[in-house]
Amino acid sequence: MIFLGIETSCDETSAAVYDSCSGIKSSVISSQIDIHSRYGGVVPEIASRNHALKIETVFYEAIEKASISVSDIDAVGVTRAPGLIGALFVGVSFAKGLSYALKIPLIPVNHLSAHIISAELTHPELVPPYTGLIISGGHSHIYQVDKSYNFRLFSYTVDDAAGEAFDKVAKMMGLAYPGGPAIENLSTKGNPDAVKFPVAMKAQSNMSFSGLKTAVMNCLNQGYFTKADIAASFQSTLVQTLINKSQIALKHFNSDKLVISGGVACNGYLRDKFLEYFKDSCDIYFPSKYLCTDNGDMIAYAAYKFMHFRKFLDIKGTARDNESSINTII
Ligand code: ATP
Ligand code: MG
Ligand code: FE
Repeated sequence: MIFLGIETSCDETSAAVYDSCSGIKSSVISSQIDIHSRYGGVVPEIASRNHALKIETVFYEAIEKASISVSDIDAVGVTRAPGLIGALFVGVSFAKGLSYALKIPLIPVNHLSAHIISAELTHPELVPPYTGLIISGGHSHIYQVDKSYNFRLFSYTVDDAAGEAFDKVAKMMGLAYPGGPAIENLSTKGNPDAVKFPVAMKAQSNMSFSGLKTAVMNCLNQGYFTKADIAASFQSTLVQTLINKSQIALKHFNSDKLVISGGVACNGYLRDKFLEYFKDSCDIYFPSKYLCTDNGDMIAYAAYKFMHFRKFLDIKGTARDNESSINTII
């Protein structure tokens, strides 16, 4: 069966074709990073308008690259939540139109579940149960995924997401958006042990990064340490916190498989630290860096999985998720 995946939840317009026999056949991503970097972050209205401008071109490019015709598509998967409401509307409306015109199933996909299972595209040997840490621009959650793809939320951030903390700290330092790659780059010139930043909620399963962000701001204002030392120390504190929370979750579920996905999982320092820390106790699975940020591949693949399991796409997140509002449009 041929699945089309459409992703428009934030600032990437993406479409991908997944063949249940041979895997990903095409993937097209049109990123708006250059447009939003002028404003230091994503401007929702500008994002929606650019999705509307790009979606058709991106779709036809994905069809052409996959060497199929539109009529070959058997089902269409689309990100339904969480995300920017106007941005989601564009993808959902487009997918709905296709589904209606081609008389094919429309499969609503939860963006976070897709981020987590995208690791299976990179590691075909990976099957649930496993523990999934999602660290992206808007979320920092840990889920336990059972063998039937039921997602159970174990841990979440009570304030900033990991990616958001990277972006905000980068902004304080005058670095470009997105902040993650900029901080990672600057950190290579700094000492991760230079500043002892506080770690909030140490013994709990949930996480908090806003205190760390404030501590970084105070440290910058004091002017005692270099920006590179502050960036490296911030990055190392945040990564250590994520390692600690993952450790708590793995122990709780008696799990020996950990998937780490979402944009922050592109971070090379984080990858090295997780692999080193868990080398004797747990198998670590990162999606390829291409699959860590937003893409249609993970949506097409999630749609395929949904046809088999018909359940895992309605995972519950935090109050930030706009599940109920998007329910009304799909
Ligand atoms: P969500 O998935 O929660 O809806 P999103 O889709 O905007 O949010 P992603 O596209 O998965 O998030 O990831 C973007 C985030 O990843 C940004 O906050 C960015 O700074 C961060 N990021 C990207 N590369 C790196 C890196 N090398 N190191 C740290 N963070 C990174
Ligand atoms: Mg993005
Ligand atoms: Fe995302």
